[in-house]
Order: sequence, then C-alpha cells, then structure tokens
Amino acid sequence: MATAGKVIKCRAAVAWEAGKPLVVQEVEVAPPQAMEVRLKILYTSLCHTDVYFWEAKGQTPVFPRILGHEAAGIVESVGEGVTELAPGDHVLPVFTGECKECAHCKSEESNMCELLRINPDRKVMIGDGQARFSVNGQPIYHFLGTSTFSEYTVVHSGCVAKINPEAPLDKVCVLSCGFCTGFGATVNVAKPKKGSTVAIFGLGAVGLSAAEGARVAGASRIIGVDLNSNRFETAKKFGCTEFVNPLEHTKPVQEVLAEMTNGGVDRAVECTGNINAMIQALESVHDVWGVAVLVGVPHKDAEFKTHPIHFLNEKTLKGTFYGHYKPRTDLPVVVEQYLKGELELEKFITHSVSFSEINKAFDLMLAGEGLRCIIRMDE
Ligand code: NAD
Ligand code: ZN
Repeated sequence: MATAGKVIKCRAAVAWEAGKPLVVQEVEVAPPQAMEVRLKILYTSLCHTDVYFWEAKGQTPVFPRILGHEAAGIVESVGEGVTELAPGDHVLPVFTGECKECAHCKSEESNMCELLRINPDRKVMIGDGQARFSVNGQPIYHFLGTSTFSEYTVVHSGCVAKINPEAPLDKVCVLSCGFCTGFGATVNVAKPKKGSTVAIFGLGAVGLSAAEGARVAGASRIIGVDLNSNRFETAKKFGCTEFVNPLEHTKPVQEVLAEMTNGGVDRAVECTGNINAMIQALESVHDVWGVAVLVGVPHKDAEFKTHPIHFLNEKTLKGTFYGHYKPRTDLPVVVEQYLKGELELEKFITHSVSFSEINKAFDLMLAGEGLRCIIRMDE
C-alpha cells in the first residue's frame, strides 16, 4: 500500500481538556512499530467509559488524548513481526488484548492477558513508551490502547480480532465493547439457570446486553433496575419482564427485590458504574446460591462497603472485564453467531452521526437518550 511505512495525516477528534467538546482536526499518525498495526477506522460508537475519562471527574485526567474503544475497521499496514494480520483484513480493536503466550492467555479460565490487559492510565504504546499521534510535534495520548476517534489509529496486534469480511462493520462494531461485555457477564460469568430470576442494574447498552444474555440462558424473570424510567419501555425488547426504579420506593431496592422474589434474585448483574448499585446488587441476591457480577467502571476512589454476613450467608460476588471473552479467540465466533442470526445487534443502535458531529453522541449519552450512537468516520 502506498501509505505503508509513512506518516498519515488524517482527521481525529482530540480531547484537549476535561469535559470540553472534542476538536475534530488534522493529526499525524506514525507508522506501526514492531508487533503493532495501523487501522483505518470506519465506524466507532460511544460507550460510557469514554465519557468517564473525558469528564475525568472520577478518573485520572490525561490530556490531550484521543478517546474511543468500540469500533470496527480495516488493517492499513502492519509493523515488524506481525504475521497473523495483513492489510485489508476486517477487524475489531479491543481495549483488552490476548498475546496468546502468557499464563492467562494459555489458561482457559482467564481473559486477563498479562501483557495487554486493560490499563486506562496507560497513554503510550507498550513497545517504546511513545505516542503514535501528534499535532505540530506535540504528542497526543492514547486511550485503552485503541483510540478509535481517529480515521487512522495504531494498536498492538494482540488487541485486534480478525473477523469475517462479510460482517457489516457498522453493526458489529458494538461487539468490540458494549455487547460482549454485558452479554458475556451474564452467559459466561453469572451463568443463570433455566427458569431463574435475574436482576439487571443499569439499562444502558451494556445492561441490556446482559438482559439479552439472561433471556438466551432461559431466565424466566428478568428485573430491570434503573433510576431513569425512560429506559423501561425499550428494555422490554431485550427480555426484561419487570422493572424497579429505586427512586420510586421508600425502602432500599434490595428489600424491594427480596419481597418480589421470596428472598432474593438468583443472579444480579450490575452495569451502572455506580458504587451504591454495586453494593445493592450483592445484597439483592439470594442466600447461598445467589451470584452478583459487577461490570460498571467505578469511580477511582470508590470503596465497596457491605456487612460480611452476606458472605457468611454464602452469597457470591464476582466482577468481569469484557464479559470474560478472549478477544482474538472468541470475538470471531461471536461475529459468526451474529451472521447466523443468533444475536440481534440492530436494536442496540438507536442513533448515528457523521464524524464531524461526534460531540452530539456525547450529548445523547449525557442526556441518557438512546443506547448506542454509531459515528460514521468517512463523513
Ligand atoms: P449507560 O450510561 O448507557 O447506562 C448506564 C445506566 O445505569 C443508565 O441507564 C443509568 O440511568 C443507570 N444507573 C446509573 N446509576 C444507577 C443506580 N445507582 N441504580 C440504577 N441504575 C443506575 O452506560 P453503558 O455504556 O451501558 O455502560 C454501563 C457501565 O459499564 C459503565 O460503568 C461502563 O463504564 C461499564 N463498562 C464496563 C466494561 C467492563 O469490561 N467491565 C466494559 C464496558 C463498559
Ligand atoms: Zn466500553
């Protein structure tokens, strides 16, 4: 390819300051170094994790930075030593990687690669500690190893899943974070039994994917819990059968759920990022067989406080990144499931904007409107 090995000038949405609109401007993207690939991003979407790091209220501020981690694109060029990817491959970049060589990658039980596991404070490439983006010589930092709010980005080859080129990239982009995170949290981690009762805390795209997982697993009652009752109508399409808005009750939500279920739900999946909801999720599950799974990204100073009696009563508390999926091994399989019609991704996509309108996607998320907003990079 004509651009391989050269610096590419392209448009990126740069976050210069916390909470200030992103600036869509020209940046320089250096060629991929050893074990890295440069991707042309075609579609990206906004996840709440991007918003937390852009607001930088509960997270370490790192600016100027290019955010974005839920995306789909095509390999433009590859660095030295990359053998499993080639220019033209259709891919999904993922915020956590799979080196395939460490103890975690070799274990069937883990998706927490030692080399490439998620590290939101890392702002440069792991190979040489440098950023691949710059504006007039000033480095622009990376985010989650993906930085997909750019027409071109450089990522470690271990954070890239090669997928079937027949898959529509404007749909499967939601698999690279939101959908797999929620769906996997239920089917791979909470593992509800057929006929059981599952509570989902937080009914954004991640929570509704978790609800979808509960429906597919055969749960008979799926109770959606959210502070925003506007979410309830949509949630019915994702299998939720009942709803609780904690603001409409005088009793704590754990007591409301215990009364509704004769002692507690069989499984609870927390997809809010709010520490109170995390504690409520654990306290809502039934003694002995109840399992709560935390998915939301907590405030950096959050502390989980609960009475130890919940553990003496044999409740189980777990957490998970990326729904326990190994990105390179499992994601191509999930894409095939979608192509076979087993997963409905369309219903998560409620909005779409051109790249120049990317700040609108932030406004929608802050207003709690819609689920996923697809950002079309070529416009
Ligand atoms: P979203 O903003 O679309 O949805 C969150 C929902 O939670 C909203 O509807 C909100 O009203 C609700 N909520 C907030 N506080 C609540 C509370 N105390 N009780 C009940 N409901 C409450 O966000 P999203 O994109 O769906 O992401 C959800 C969470 O998952 C975020 O914290 C995100 O950072 C996290 N996340 C985690 C992973 C992972 O791998 N663990 C990956 C992606 C996203
Ligand atoms: Zn995400």
